[in-house]
Amino acid sequence: MFYSLTLKKEWAKVRKFIRINGDKGSRQANHHQMILFKEAATLKKYIGKNKESGKKIGFVPTMGALHQGHLSLVESSKGKSDITICSIFVNPTQFNDPKDFEKYPVTIGNDILLLESNGCDVLFFPAVHEIYPAGTSSPIHYNLGSIENLLEGKYRPGHFQGVCQVVHKLLDIVTPDFLFMGQKDYQQVIVVKRLVELIQRPVQVITASTFRETTGLAMSSRNLRLSEEQKQLAAGIYKMLDYIKNNYTAFPVPDLEKHAANYLITHGFAKVDYVAIANAETLQPVTDSRNNEAAVALIAAFVGDIRLIDNMIIAG
Ligand code: AMP
Repeated sequence: MFYSLTLKKEWAKVRKFIRINGDKGSRQANHHQMILFKEAATLKKYIGKNKESGKKIGFVPTMGALHQGHLSLVESSKGKSDITICSIFVNPTQFNDPKDFEKYPVTIGNDILLLESNGCDVLFFPAVHEIYPAGTSSPIHYNLGSIENLLEGKYRPGHFQGVCQVVHKLLDIVTPDFLFMGQKDYQQVIVVKRLVELIQRPVQVITASTFRETTGLAMSSRNLRLSEEQKQLAAGIYKMLDYIKNNYTAFPVPDLEKHAANYLITHGFAKVDYVAIANAETLQPVTDSRNNEAAVALIAAFVGDIRLIDNMIIAG
């Protein structure tokens, strides 16, 4: 369930559950209360103080419309860090399709309740000008190498530059010890690890496994836009990843890729951007399973106008 209330009404609904930075204190002194920051400067101060006293910071960046997958990252962070900070920011610079940006689900009231009830310590919920005070065009080009133009990079030109732009900004504000990312966005994890190397930040990137519905469908904020029937159909992606994994050594790689793409198209998918079997580190195509390289299968496909991605490690 999610609220379709206006932002103002959502605040009213969640206000009693959280402490907004600047509040005098909790109404229930001993009760854990999440603190909400909207300004980068005040969040930085808060983090600075906590780091001085030796606290380890875990960071879970998200675009909101939270689900169990996001919450599993919060859980991992809580297990490893003293303070868990989640951010909700729908980053305009990583959307190559403006319609996708406009339609991105926003459920902030529900998100706040979920984070608070799952023991998140801090929510950073900035406006666009907080993250991009000088505007959204970037003076920096991140040298990501060949991975930038493969798969997601090929179908969403500029996407990973936008991801790096926002993650760079967020890392400089939050200065976390641990950064939690989902394997669901496999290529993004590789890109962010590369970014951390490029900008030399002392943060450990931790990858969390993909949280799925019982049908196998990977949880995603975009699933909110699917009907029940479309959700059933969308589980075909997982089915094909599983098929590829189970048949990896039995059939030639191109045959497996073709079979999966065909299956999706003949089972109600509107379009398949790619079915790819790739090297698990470089994402370069794997041509033969007998090469014994670590491999991952990745799929991007549309149910209606909703683009879904998923992946599975098929050889370790
Ligand atoms: P997003 O809000 O989609 O940008 O995702 C925020 C973080 O949650 C990213 O690191 C994603 O990879 C991760 N994530 C998204 N979906 C899942 C999932 N089903 N299981 C685990 N992590 C996920």
